Amino acid sequence: MQQMNKINIYQERRLKLAKQIQAKTGSGIAIVTTAPEVARNRDSEFPYRHDSDFFYLTGFEEPGATLLMRVSENGSSLNLESHLFCRPKDPEREIWDGIRLGPEAAPEILGVEFAHSNFDLDSKLSELLADQDAVYVRLAESAEADRRLRHWMKQVRQKTRSGVNPPSEFHDVEALIHEMRLFKDAHEIEIMRRAAAISARAHVRAMQICRPGMREYQLEAELLHEFRNSGSQSVAYNSIVAGGGNSCILHYRAGSNELRSGELCLIDAGCELDGYASDITRTFPVNGKFTGPQRALYDITLAAQEAAIAMTKVGNTFMQPHEAALNVLTQGLLDEKLLKLTELGSLDNAIETGAYRRFYMHRTSHWLGMDVHDVGSYREPMETSESPVKDEKPWRVLKSGMVITIEPGLYIRPADDVDEAFWNIGIRIEDDAVIDESGCKLISRGVPVKANEIEALMKHS
Ligand code: MG
Ligand code: MG
Repeated sequence: MQQMNKINIYQERRLKLAKQIQAKTGSGIAIVTTAPEVARNRDSEFPYRHDSDFFYLTGFEEPGATLLMRVSENGSSLNLESHLFCRPKDPEREIWDGIRLGPEAAPEILGVEFAHSNFDLDSKLSELLADQDAVYVRLAESAEADRRLRHWMKQVRQKTRSGVNPPSEFHDVEALIHEMRLFKDAHEIEIMRRAAAISARAHVRAMQICRPGMREYQLEAELLHEFRNSGSQSVAYNSIVAGGGNSCILHYRAGSNELRSGELCLIDAGCELDGYASDITRTFPVNGKFTGPQRALYDITLAAQEAAIAMTKVGNTFMQPHEAALNVLTQGLLDEKLLKLTELGSLDNAIETGAYRRFYMHRTSHWLGMDVHDVGSYREPMETSESPVKDEKPWRVLKSGMVITIEPGLYIRPADDVDEAFWNIGIRIEDDAVIDESGCKLISRGVPVKANEIEALMKHS
């Protein structure tokens, strides 16, 4: 029964994509290939990760697979035929690499109408592409994908003298799928909740274990332990564990730097569960107690996050939470004299001139989903009369089912004109928000965020 429900989800998504193809061109063929396996060194490979778009439409995790959807109109009704090309069963290879689903079992397990061996991909594709006007592919995906498509087209063109017409229109399939992926269904949100809960537990574990003298990689190991021990398949992205001045490097990796008493530790880490990412950042004092300057900047960052959370709701644009955070952060920088009111004149001017960028250089949010920086346009798909600038699409209006991160930060590098008390303080606070009719729900708050609560947690461990 569980299996059947899962099939329905992917079948429903394929049908939804087919309807968009029907609306655009009446009929057509869509081709989506999964990710290739990638060599790490010599004959060892990186852990395999499927392509998100392909998985979204099939639920199939094996490498070497292609989905082809044939959409046709039968009067006013829609006809969808899904073909899966996958690795054939191979008892010899399966001894080494693991069991393959194989084309015989695929229709029942994945709910596709037809399944074929990869060996038949070229011949079958040229057959299926014949007399189709519109083809939906990922445009400019890779040299390999272009080569394959050229090969199939060449085969179809060779048949033109026998009366076969090759496709004449190419459309971007990605844009259609990514618009669908921007809105998460109940099934997806449930997985994302579980992923965020695991990641929150991992952050708690790291805070509890952290002691001065430990190395960044030791905290990374604690995060990984919690991720894998809870059933997550992988990290959603490389974990950032940054002590002291490393916290001011936005994409720092966990290194071998020693965590020192009196310094902060910034952890930006999240697991991937069943194909969905979580993305949490917490910043805490290595010795369990914030210093005065650390606490001052921490509370500003948290207030900025709260302001952004309050603006994360249906009907607001994607930029409104960022603007709310920016106001609080910049006012805080003025209050702490990191920005000089005497030079800048006003809060508005400090924002307009971008003076804050020295200390806050990234956006407050990004979409979150199968990919940590998930797909979906940050602009409205259509131009509207409300566009402030001609030909510029307005920022996306937030809607129920979207999932975003809310992650303001402050990063203070040593400099002559900066009070030394603030040097090497890097703070980011990041939570994952599901937008719904009531505003938004934070799914990553299993780990404390208030300074007092973090200190209490670290004290009692
Ligand atoms: Mg992050
Ligand atoms: Mg993020």
